[in-house]
Amino acid sequence: MPELPEAESVARQIRAHLLGAQLNDCVVGRADIVREGLSTLPWYRGAMLEDVARYGKSVALGFRKEGELRYIVAELGMTGLLLFHATQTRHPQHVHVRLSFTGRRESELRYWNPRRFGRMSLLDQAGLDAYRTRRFGVDPLTVPREEFVRLLQSRRGRLKPLLMHQQVIAGIGNIYANEILFRARLHPNREVARLRETAMIRLYDTMQSVLCEAIACGGSSVKDFFAPDGTEGQYKSRHLVYGKEGQLCPNRCGRVIRRLQSERSSFFCPVCQTNRLSG
Ligand SMILES: [Zn+2]
Repeated sequence: MPELPEAESVARQIRAHLLGAQLNDCVVGRADIVREGLSTLPWYRGAMLEDVARYGKSVALGFRKEGELRYIVAELGMTGLLLFHATQTRHPQHVHVRLSFTGRRESELRYWNPRRFGRMSLLDQAGLDAYRTRRFGVDPLTVPREEFVRLLQSRRGRLKPLLMHQQVIAGIGNIYANEILFRARLHPNREVARLRETAMIRLYDTMQSVLCEAIACGGSSVKDFFAPDGTEGQYKSRHLVYGKEGQLCPNRCGRVIRRLQSERSSFFCPVCQTNRLSG
């Protein structure tokens, strides 16, 4: 938690409320929150927020000053939040960075993260390009279907870990992997090498529709996710299997949702999600 839909919701709110604002001050409370580029911090004062992008589960703020572009990239994966001034948070001691702005609707963006070590990077264009190449695979919202199919055909191993492998497909975590696989009727432990192309296409279409629907709902609020304005994502009410262990399968097949303990919990229906080649 936050995964792609939550990070996308964060990026959209910041875009709507702060694009074009001038950054007046940037206070870093703990030096160890910054993974790289801390020495460039003074450059950002007086720069204009020109671009807000999402990469995987991270949000990149693009600033321009005197013809130069630099970025502040905040990782949201697992526990990070970006919050506007009026939004309260529990454990305010975990606010590690404060950006103050003028010229637009919001005056402040705070970065909150209880896992403080190295979660923010200050990068120039070359640094951002290298960061993206190193960390992020294809984006599930923009990868063409043919490329997605080729990608799966080139991989080995089980399906769910692959969907969550950020250097292969960037942005999907445990919640959405479970929801996508249930709707695509594919077992989490299915061997990727044993997927037919029709199943890969079904997976692709399902992945896109789940993520788009979740973004339209503002994401899912599980384990303390809030958008910058403090609102909660509503997609949680549409979860079909995540956290539903022991409940009847929503497909009315008569079985209950089971939970597999692997490195992350998998929730699935043993009848509806086949692990056989025919599926
Ligand atoms: Zn079922």
